[in-house]
Amino acid sequence: MSDTPVVLVTGGSRGIGAAVCRLAARQGWRVAVNYASNRKAADAVVASIVEHGGEAVAIEGDVGKAADIAAMFAAVDGHFGRLDGLVNNAGIVDYPQRVDEMSAERIERMLCVNVTGSMLCAAEAIRRMSSRHGGQGGAIVNVSSMAAILGAATQYVDYAASKAAIDAFTVGLSRELAVEGIRVNAVRPGIIETDLHASGGLPDRAREMAPSVPMQRAGTAEEVADAILYLLSPSASYITGAILNVSGGR
Ligand code: NAP
Repeated sequence: MSDTPVVLVTGGSRGIGAAVCRLAARQGWRVAVNYASNRKAADAVVASIVEHGGEAVAIEGDVGKAADIAAMFAAVDGHFGRLDGLVNNAGIVDYPQRVDEMSAERIERMLCVNVTGSMLCAAEAIRRMSSRHGGQGGAIVNVSSMAAILGAATQYVDYAASKAAIDAFTVGLSRELAVEGIRVNAVRPGIIETDLHASGGLPDRAREMAPSVPMQRAGTAEEVADAILYLLSPSASYITGAILNVSGGR
């Protein structure tokens, strides 16, 4: 079995996740690139990694579905035979709505993908990485949001609440695993230039909100990826339970 570490990045086909996959490969990880439906985008990420001499595989799976998560980790086992890192990056927003306009279906889907999905992926990773289960240890990085602090009023309070849950999950899980060789940390991106805003019906959101950021600009997916790769790396060996704002001061 190869000694080269393996990281699974959920939602690795586009945006922040794609930047994490590319940087992870440059830093010596073999990469499992999960995607929900955009096979073409995931294949492009894999191709760019392979072109630069790295190793990667695209794995389909909706993190809002428990059966897909189980199949995704089985595919990682089959392809790489080991797991050393998990980036719980896949996440969704929705169209701007007040809470009194939201349907039960919307709220359930939001929490299912953003919260339950991250927890179930972590559970699968723990079963492979924890010393308690005979594993070699590893690192988990969860992708939260500054919305967890700011609340996203009139846009998507359900999303903000899902990310606040990720913050609490990060702290609790880090303590649960601290003696089992697994570090658990999170990043809180601020306003980042990706397709996420268009998927919430606000394609110009990053540009429009830039003046409200102390640094006066949106961040890039690559800037968030840098923070995530640091938290995954041995350079962060004494850091667990940390939640790092990557938000230009916002
Ligand atoms: P994005 O550009 O919309 O990309 C989303 C990625 O997640 C895609 O790869 C997509 O796959 C995948 N995905 C969506 N739903 C999924 C599901 N149910 N199962 C598996 N994969 C799924 O988003 P982004 O801006 O990079 O956001 C990444 C993370 O950062 C999210 O957790 C988001 O909440 C967080 N974040 C973003 C910002 C921001 O300003 N952009 C700010 C704070 C936090 P397909 O390509 O197959 O659709």
